[in-house]
Amino acid sequence: MVKKRIRTEKFNFKCKTENIPLTRRQLKNLLNYRIPCLCCGREMLHPDKYLELLDKEELKGNAKSAVSILEPFEKIMFPVEKQVFNMLKCLSEKYPDKNFQQLLKIRKQSHELALVRIQSIIFNKISFYRRILPAKESRQIRNLIIKTNDIIFDPEPLKPFSRRIFIGKIKKIVKNIENKKLQNEIIEIARRLPRSGDEVCAFVVKNARKRPEVIALNLLHPSVGTFEHILPKSLKGPNNSLNFALECSYCNNSRHHYPITLQIEENPYMPQNAQLQADKLISLYRKKNIGNKEYIENLKEVLFNLSYEQIDLDLSKLYL
Ligand SMILES: [Zn+2]
Repeated sequence: MVKKRIRTEKFNFKCKTENIPLTRRQLKNLLNYRIPCLCCGREMLHPDKYLELLDKEELKGNAKSAVSILEPFEKIMFPVEKQVFNMLKCLSEKYPDKNFQQLLKIRKQSHELALVRIQSIIFNKISFYRRILPAKESRQIRNLIIKTNDIIFDPEPLKPFSRRIFIGKIKKIVKNIENKKLQNEIIEIARRLPRSGDEVCAFVVKNARKRPEVIALNLLHPSVGTFEHILPKSLKGPNNSLNFALECSYCNNSRHHYPITLQIEENPYMPQNAQLQADKLISLYRKKNIGNKEYIENLKEVLFNLSYEQIDLDLSKLYL
């Protein structure tokens, strides 16, 4: 991976920066036209439509009114969020006066048990490495798992368990061990801990603590369209449309600062989904004169180079 990153850094945008094809506003405007995400291919929500929901008082009130506000967006929700939304919809029939938070609290206990079951299997797998790690790391893993178990097996812990903090601690513990394969293996197991976007139980447990309107917005948040830096900012990728691809918030956040090659490894259909996006951009440009040719051509070139030719967009329809 290190090798790939070094090669990735060599891509040169500099010669063209005077010629930025689309302004941020023009690029964002494309999100009004049901653009599929570059990575997962799902239809994205315009960020302004999401922001408009922030002012909706109905989302703070009873679940029935909140459901009616969110219903038009149901088709673009991600699978976990859609399941939770349907659960809330059913519960709102039974408890018409309760809000989203109160409804999630009704279901929290059973989902928390399901979550703890999954988590404890993963912590056990990590504990196994105490047998093969050096004494110092082995002791640190033991202490971390004891503390973590104290949190997850306590029905009312002082501080809730945080997947992000746990993975950070695991990384810190294994960072100096010589066997890199072993190091990656342990981190990989920790990464399998459920996230709220991947498991209904994790969503319910995490969100039962949030305000009703925040829960409502979280049901839509993964679908919001964003600008993905194709060459990550941390690798000096430019902050303009020469280096921007339209991607949903879920895929953008999942990628972090990793190279696009790793993103393809985790999302094997990304090349096909990128083609879906390109086809949509071409059709918008040709039929409605929205967007422009230079942006699409640049997107092809940048993706082709940074993905080591794994994403090779077919732009033939652009020149018909
Ligand atoms: Zn996506």
